[in-house]
Amino acid sequence: MTVATEKYKEQVYKTGARMAASGLVTGTWGNLSARVTGENLVVITPSGLPYAGLQARDMVVMNLEGRVVEGEKRPSTEYQLHLAIYRARADVNAVMHTHSVFASALAVARRAIPPILEDLAQVVGGSVAVAAYARAGTAELAASAVEALGGHGAVLLANHGVVGVGRNLEEVLTVCQIVEKAAKVFVWADLVGQPAVLPEAEVAALRDCYLTSYGQPGGRCAGGIPRPGEK
Ligand code: 13P
Ligand code: ZN
Repeated sequence: MTVATEKYKEQVYKTGARMAASGLVTGTWGNLSARVTGENLVVITPSGLPYAGLQARDMVVMNLEGRVVEGEKRPSTEYQLHLAIYRARADVNAVMHTHSVFASALAVARRAIPPILEDLAQVVGGSVAVAAYARAGTAELAASAVEALGGHGAVLLANHGVVGVGRNLEEVLTVCQIVEKAAKVFVWADLVGQPAVLPEAEVAALRDCYLTSYGQPGGRCAGGIPRPGEK
């Protein structure tokens, strides 16, 4: 047991409770994990336990090769999905898998969510593609999700749900909330008219602003103004 993993266990189970409270999952499904900075380790939720009752000690620590190094419980059945993403994406430090309803509807219809909203363009950097179908919990699903995710912030799993990625747990929860909101807006927009998709260059500019300077330290996005004393 290390002090570093203890901190991550706290953060992972608390973010899991927020994910469940946000309505992004039903029952014990869905899962999330965080990479332990500077280590070959990931802290992941246990499989099939209610989020409301989870405690830090229920979290499972695994290495990137898939060996459990700490914890009493069995890790999420989607551990291969989580680990494959960490191995493929050095920029990702948190992964969340949800079964949110509108995004799942699009995953069933096998329809990608195009970049239709500015917040979606910022956190995803383009479309939320649909990964080729593979059964939940398999290495095939991990491979198809990594391929369809590419360098983006989220991907839909055909006939299943969503995977979001982020630089930290706070961000990945936001990513999954924004994907669900965008899925809802896309379905409604498609009902009342023809959804207009943001041009590629605009999506790239929005993504760049979000990654480099959105929020208080930056001010370099359109409409941003430096704080007193900042250039
Ligand atoms: P776990 O309960 O094993 O994390 O898995 C739930 C799930 O969503 C499988 O895809
Ligand atoms: Zn699932």
